[in-house]
Amino acid sequence: MNEHQIKTHTEEDTKVIAAQLAGLLGPGDVVTLEGDLGAGKTTFTKGIATGLGVKRIVNSPTYTIVKEYEGDLPLYHMDVYRLEDSEEDIGFSEYFEGDGISIVEWAHFIKEYLPKERLDIKINHIDEQSRLIQFCPRGSRFDSIIASLKEKL
Ligand code: ADP
Ligand code: MG
Repeated sequence: MNEHQIKTHTEEDTKVIAAQLAGLLGPGDVVTLEGDLGAGKTTFTKGIATGLGVKRIVNSPTYTIVKEYEGDLPLYHMDVYRLEDSEEDIGFSEYFEGDGISIVEWAHFIKEYLPKERLDIKINHIDEQSRLIQFCPRGSRFDSIIASLKEKL
């Protein structure tokens, strides 16, 4: 498996990496984001949105669970934190198998709905401004996406 990790030292660095990743993603791709509050999951999503040419400002969808944005491909931004301890299915498969790219913050709360093939990303605080971003591809498609990302960075 093509695991990869990278350190960033500013919010902007994190967004640039996310935007590079966005250029490699296609319809129906699912990316999960794990990490403590303030790690940078939403910041990473903002970078993906920029990479997809989304013009609207991307904010945390905490109160809505899913927000959809129009870009070169649709972006479905989910924060499933509030689904902790519930087994609610808000129609995930329609998003995951749809024409857009799904980004899921706190994805472990909906493990049972996640596709087997996906890109798992963990973000950890190193200090105030530095983060460790770990890419764990699940399946051959995401393996090669991460191989290409490594070459771009
Ligand atoms: P989460 O969605 O994981 O709760 P956010 O993306 O909302 O986190 O918040 C991350 C915060 O950390 C932002 O205020 C951002 O400016 C700050 N930050 C500082 N350094 C970085 C970095 N290297 N990468 C990402 N965010 C950073
Ligand atoms: Mg967030």
